[in-house]
Amino acid sequence: MFLKNKSLRFRLVFFGVFVLLHVVLLALWVTRHSDNVPSQAVGDDVVLLADTIPIPSETVVGKIVLLGTAAGPVPRPGRSQPATLFSIGGRDYLIDAGDNVSQQLSRAQVSLTDLDVVFISHLHFDHVLGLNPLMGFTWTGARKRPLVIWGPPGTKSLVQRNISALEIGAEIFRSQLPPRPEMSDLFEVKEISEDGPVAFYEDEFVKVTAVSNTHYEDAGVQARDYGLDQSYSYRFDTDEGSVVFTGDTGPSEALEVLAMDVDLLVSEIIDLPSVLSAVAKSFGGNSPQLTSLQNHLKREHLTAEEVGKLAARSNAGRLLITHFAIGPNADVEAFVSKIRKYYPEGEIILGQDLMSIPLDGN
Ligand SMILES: [Zn+2]
Ligand SMILES: [Zn+2]
Repeated sequence: MFLKNKSLRFRLVFFGVFVLLHVVLLALWVTRHSDNVPSQAVGDDVVLLADTIPIPSETVVGKIVLLGTAAGPVPRPGRSQPATLFSIGGRDYLIDAGDNVSQQLSRAQVSLTDLDVVFISHLHFDHVLGLNPLMGFTWTGARKRPLVIWGPPGTKSLVQRNISALEIGAEIFRSQLPPRPEMSDLFEVKEISEDGPVAFYEDEFVKVTAVSNTHYEDAGVQARDYGLDQSYSYRFDTDEGSVVFTGDTGPSEALEVLAMDVDLLVSEIIDLPSVLSAVAKSFGGNSPQLTSLQNHLKREHLTAEEVGKLAARSNAGRLLITHFAIGPNADVEAFVSKIRKYYPEGEIILGQDLMSIPLDGN
């Protein structure tokens, strides 16, 4: 009856077209934006979108993904700070959490809600500065189960202080987000304090063993309220093969034993001439601190020759180089011939950010 009213009929048709047009525009917008889900890059509201579209980890065969291959503690244009992903059986393990780790995980298509366990080798800035954003995004990303973080003495204190810093922003977000857990319930920290070798972690896919290395040997490390500072190397044993992450270290007999017959040795490296030159320039003159830093660089990192000796003595199957401590104009390619003098046969891979290396070598 009322449709006979021309004016009303026109208004209904107009309203219908108006609604249809908006539905089409909304559909176009969603299609366009769901092609890439850069949760960190776009804004706070997109974090919620990313929550509803978790990126599945489909990895069954073991692989290493280099998330950050620079040595710290200075930002570098072509490499992120140290962090490495080890995926096996659909599990994602993170070794170290340098600056930019959250962004790199997202580029490697690993959601923070899927991350299983974090292993911190030591507490130098370059290995832990990414923890704060990683923890913040883990909380906003609606993760339900606690994220377990293993590390040396001091890790509990570090995580607790990061929580304190994040609570300001979390309180602001609470009125805008669905209920979130207390941040302190979302992170479970476990510390290793033994020199090792100590098998401290095991699940159905990996067994992890730690050994204290020589990175802090001359550094004047003191007992603190949380204990003695430690720097660890980690070995992962799996059904598909074994991997050793040297972390930061100088030559170390304990590491050679830990790495014995390992399938893949993931090692740090330093180019002393270019690094010492850059450090001397930045200090601008002699000082006890410069001498101390020079000694640290010479004795508590691995030159290419020392990496070659480590790989040979431990009979490593393959060698993957990361944590490049290099000054300007360093010849990275020259590392290979220096390593080869001592390690003549195994494959040598010079790592780059986001490089993926299958554990089985295929
Ligand atoms: Zn480092
Ligand atoms: Zn270090």
